[in-house]
Amino acid sequence: MERRYGEWAGNPKGTAEDITRCIWEVWPNDTYIPHQCRRKRGYGKDGLYCKQHAKKHQEEDNRHG
Ligand SMILES: [Zn+2]
Repeated sequence: MERRYGEWAGNPKGTAEDITRCIWEVWPNDTYIPHQCRRKRGYGKDGLYCKQHAKKHQEEDNRHG
């Protein structure tokens, strides 16, 4: 399935996934509209994450068992 980011009433289609970038969904504190992480992917599961989020994702996987 295609990933999309930042779908809300003012932008119902959101923003399509940039396949060169980390798939992590970032929630800014100021707008509350999520956007795709802007770092380059290449780490973690299937190389879909940036270095920082690969680590974070791995930690969450471990928590969920
Ligand atoms: Zn990232």
